[in-house]
Amino acid sequence: MTDAGNPAPPAPAPARRPALRARIERVYDHCADTRSLWLRTTSGALPRFAPGMFISIAIPLAEGARVRPYSIASSAEDGEPFEICFNRVPNGAGVAWLFEREPGDELGFTGPFGAFTLDRPPEAETIFIAENTGVAPIRPMARRALADRDGVPIHLIYAADRAEHLLYRDEFERIARERPRFRFEPRVLPAATLWDELGRIVQTRWLDADAVRIRNFYICGVGKGVLALRDRLRAGGYERRSVRYEQW
Ligand SMILES: Cc1cc2nc3c(=O)[nH]c(=O)nc-3n(C[C@H](O)[C@H](O)[C@H](O)COP(=O)(O)OP(=O)(O)OC[C@H]3O[C@@H](n4cnc5c(N)ncnc54)[C@H](O)[C@@H]3O)c2cc1C
Repeated sequence: MTDAGNPAPPAPAPARRPALRARIERVYDHCADTRSLWLRTTSGALPRFAPGMFISIAIPLAEGARVRPYSIASSAEDGEPFEICFNRVPNGAGVAWLFEREPGDELGFTGPFGAFTLDRPPEAETIFIAENTGVAPIRPMARRALADRDGVPIHLIYAADRAEHLLYRDEFERIARERPRFRFEPRVLPAATLWDELGRIVQTRWLDADAVRIRNFYICGVGKGVLALRDRLRAGGYERRSVRYEQW
């Protein structure tokens, strides 16, 4: 599900994207249940994409083919191979198939697609909020948000149920040391109350503390907590277009 409230998507409609193939060049296990794959397109070149976009991977299961979206976790400026990262899901046969793939294997996909994007450095303070692998689209967005040497404050509040699920932590901490306008806050929170706690942080800092409502929010994660946070911000006075989200 992507945000129907986002501005017009910069990418063409899915039907206009050709089916492509990619070879797996590298596999990296962040931890036991979370993996990255680096993919190199073998049929043509990967079309231009904006930070935050995803590819739709064709997954040929015995019980029937399915298509699942995976966000591009690397930046367009890094070229190919490009990275996706994903975690195991209870009863998730599609992602289990991805975990069985090995270097040298090929897979089919379409894309990149998506309206949950950030294509140029923002003009207003920007807050990224992600949980677990929901950081995948946020990572290239944060990098693009910081592309200008000077600019507005950029925050990343990144929560996970276990410390090992906080992906790219060293990288975000390094950027925060190098770029004073980037504030990185990793949080380990119980899964059951993760979104409640994120809601409390947002309420205290960006709703109760002042009357400023010119900030951008980008929220990504699994389940209804994403929508609850979106609704809290919009009800609190932020414009629809200032609160962007992607719910998995
Ligand atoms: C736009 C978009 C981008 C996405 N990008 C990524 C990505 O970069 N990395 C990634 O791991 N997943 C991503 N997903 C989720 C992914 O497409 C699959 O849904 C997921 O891998 C499970 O697929 P499945 O076929 O195994 O199980 P499904 O039958 O599709 O899902 C089973 C259940 O797991 C839930 N679920 C989906 N994703 C997750 C998750 N990551 N963690 C826990 N529960 C989940 C679903 O809501 C559903 O209830 C994205 C989804 C969308 C809509």
